[in-house]
Amino acid sequence: MSDYSLDLNEDQQTLVDWVHTFAADVIRPAAEEWDEREEFPWPIVQEAANIGLYGWEFMAANLGDPTGLSIVLAIEELFWGDAGIGLSIFGSGLAAAGISGNGTPEQVMEWVPQCYGTADKVQLGAFCVSEPDAGSDVSSLRTRAVYDEKTDEWVLNGTKAWITNGGIADIHVVVAAVDPELKGRGQASFVVPPGTKGLSMGQKYKKHGIKASHTSEVVLDDVRVPGRCLLGGKEKLDEKLARARESGSSGQKQPAMATFEATRPAVGAQALGVARAAYEYSLEYAKERQAFGRPIIMNQSIAFKLADMKTEIDAARLLVHRAAWMAANRKEFKAGEGSMSKLKAGEVAVWVTEQAIQILGGYGYTREYPVERWHRDAKIFTIFEGTSEIQRLVISRNISGLRIP
Ligand SMILES: Cc1cc2nc3c(=O)[nH]c(=O)nc-3n(C[C@H](O)[C@H](O)[C@H](O)COP(=O)(O)OP(=O)(O)OC[C@H]3O[C@@H](n4cnc5c(N)ncnc54)[C@H](O)[C@@H]3O)c2cc1C
Repeated sequence: MSDYSLDLNEDQQTLVDWVHTFAADVIRPAAEEWDEREEFPWPIVQEAANIGLYGWEFMAANLGDPTGLSIVLAIEELFWGDAGIGLSIFGSGLAAAGISGNGTPEQVMEWVPQCYGTADKVQLGAFCVSEPDAGSDVSSLRTRAVYDEKTDEWVLNGTKAWITNGGIADIHVVVAAVDPELKGRGQASFVVPPGTKGLSMGQKYKKHGIKASHTSEVVLDDVRVPGRCLLGGKEKLDEKLARARESGSSGQKQPAMATFEATRPAVGAQALGVARAAYEYSLEYAKERQAFGRPIIMNQSIAFKLADMKTEIDAARLLVHRAAWMAANRKEFKAGEGSMSKLKAGEVAVWVTEQAIQILGGYGYTREYPVERWHRDAKIFTIFEGTSEIQRLVISRNISGLRIP
């Protein structure tokens, strides 16, 4: 007898129901307003914190699930409610992942809770990697980190681009070049504590979708952080740099890439939530809407579209769940399984939301119905945390063993 099962266990089902209720009762009804306002939805994040849905304890409890599924299940429900608000609730998780992935246990204990704060004082985290001239090519970061031995401080200078929660966060995790000649192998991650002088918000971007989520430049002008803010510690960094100088490789992954790899199934789950919202809405619409004297779903062209939408969503979910299970069980992504899950789910979300507009016809194209918003929101999943092309690059390098350029 095998204990293999694809059923959710009781805890997971309870979690899904709980997050779904919040998404349906609180997030969905607020989605249109915050999309139009294009502002960070503080009251909704506060409500999430009040019930324990926003907070490091929530993340820690669910990341502890040995199947790896709890967190992706929760994210799918959250983003089913709304992607912009979902990212406002989930965005701090990327900074927390950057700290957990690169920090010492003491650093994780000190800084991760501060990425969330408490229900009485909600805080945010931001993970700052991308720059105006370094998005996909994270090895070319220009932001510099220079060590000041006299004061045991690191001095950070540079500009970060498209940062979720950038400038409004309490904790900024900044990836910077310590030795630019070593490219990605010469980088390190730093925590910039709340209120540090020299860190400011640059332009706030006006976006195509996920408008409730705050995206800004972050300017670092002679930002001084204590030595203990270097994630992983100086000794480990010095060893890594020495190895890299000797061999041209440290044998370790770049800090930013390690974080992104670990969070890719979570981004796939975000895309699934949006795709499922559009699918469910258009299925109901197709059963109601009459044309030529019958519901439009009675046309095979519409019914088959919905059949394909559902099939694609379920296929993407299996990839997301597999990658989440692998990550939780420390299985190496030998074929780029994390990238596969994000690639497939992101592309499915764009395709499904476009089909949903088609099913709603003229109504689907207007802002009176939510499907056009879901379509705008879905597009981000083929761009951030590694574009679809970069995911294909990761997968092709993994399956071929070749350094495909
Ligand atoms: C809303 C939003 C939120 C974001 N949040 C964050 C955040 O919190 N933190 C953070 O650090 N970054 C964040 N980003 C940045 C995001 O990760 C980058 O935009 C993304 O990695 C792409 O980089 P780029 O925009 O410079 O595109 P480019 O790298 O200039 O790519 C442009 C095009 O060229 C393609 N391309 C590039 N190189 C290759 C190649 N080798 N092979 C094939 N095709 C290639 C790309 O796929 C893309 O289609 C966010 C971006 C957005 C829009």
